[in-house]
Amino acid sequence: MRYDYLVVGAGLFGATFAHEAREAGRSVLVVERRPHIAGNVYTEEVEGIQVHRYGAHIFHTNNAQVWAFVNRFATFNRYTNSPIAVYKGEVYNLPFNMNTFYQMWGTSTPEEARREIDRQVKEAGIVSPRNLEEHALASVGRDIYEKLVKGYTAKQWGKPCDELPAFLIKRLPVRFTYDNNYFNDRFQGIPIGGYTQIAQKLLEGVEVRLGVDYTQHRDELRGLAGKVIYTGMIDQYFGNRFGPLEYRSLKFETTVLDVENYQGNAVVNYTEADVPYTRIIEHKHFDPGSHTGDAARPKTVVTKEYPASWQSGVEAYYPMNNERNDALFLKYHELVRQEEGIVFGGRLGSYKYLNMDQTMEEALALAEKELAGA
Ligand code: FAD
Repeated sequence: MRYDYLVVGAGLFGATFAHEAREAGRSVLVVERRPHIAGNVYTEEVEGIQVHRYGAHIFHTNNAQVWAFVNRFATFNRYTNSPIAVYKGEVYNLPFNMNTFYQMWGTSTPEEARREIDRQVKEAGIVSPRNLEEHALASVGRDIYEKLVKGYTAKQWGKPCDELPAFLIKRLPVRFTYDNNYFNDRFQGIPIGGYTQIAQKLLEGVEVRLGVDYTQHRDELRGLAGKVIYTGMIDQYFGNRFGPLEYRSLKFETTVLDVENYQGNAVVNYTEADVPYTRIIEHKHFDPGSHTGDAARPKTVVTKEYPASWQSGVEAYYPMNNERNDALFLKYHELVRQEEGIVFGGRLGSYKYLNMDQTMEEALALAEKELAGA
């Protein structure tokens, strides 16, 4: 065996594990099928602006240990995510808060806003919601549902809300303060200079082979290491033996525009069903002041995000955690027990949506367990 560990995937999970293993004196080889490291948090510079190639990524966490850990690899700015929603030309603040209620109804006190929501919830008259639409109507009433939830959620999941399970939006946070901060976490920010440097620093001193798909070189790669840490799709690893798990995909359309400021905010959601994309990201606003472009040649970079159906061969972004898929995942997970020397992790290996902080937390926990002793 030439390596103690073979890590499949150079995303945040794989890179964090590889870093810890190397620090613990183990030898590690990382293989990554894409031509770059960092997985979905990959950012690259375009016109002096850090572009989030796989969708907007905002780091937020309540975990002080993870926050301290990630700050070893980048300096974070104090970006606060405050998305804007556009519905048929009307502009609203998100998440639903006193600003939104004022824009929607002209209410200016928490009591007035609460009364209007209660009135609409009562009018909907739903006691036991059977689907996402009923769940939303029973939580926030008709106006917020129709203007800010219905079209956006249907686009996201590719189905009308009355055909979607309620659990997809378990919580529709309603805030009775004038607070546009999307996240409740204690720590939040964007790494100045982008996310790729974090993966780069995590992988310092580790051998990384890019453009290598494990499933196509399984025989030669498996023999190289004592243990495999696999962050790719678990169903694909087992040759889709029980049938494929389902995912949701995305398409990104990125354009450089000759304007200084296109939309005045990093994230603008388009909540009506007729607009095919869910949001437009204007990347420079993730790090205000960092763009040192030529004043005579103003530039900005925007990305339209289109939800897309998933089939084999297309990038899988979101696991579809419904009853059918979760049961199927458990069947695959049973196979892992029968396999020697492999651990599955990360969002694809564990078939669950993980934020970046959770990904790092899980990778650090695995490293602690794996590398303890010996
Ligand atoms: P990945 O980043 O997917 O890395 C896995 C890597 O493995 C990939 O690079 C892949 O190419 C590689 N791989 C897979 N199979 C193979 C194979 N067979 N051989 C070789 N290589 C392979 N989190 C937040 O905290 N805040 C946000 O704002 C946020 N926004 C998001 C927006 C979008 C659109 C998406 C999709 C996710 C967002 N996330 C966000 C979640 C974040 O992207 C994940 O937490 C993180 O990327 C998970 O890291 P990972 O290593 O598990 O997976």
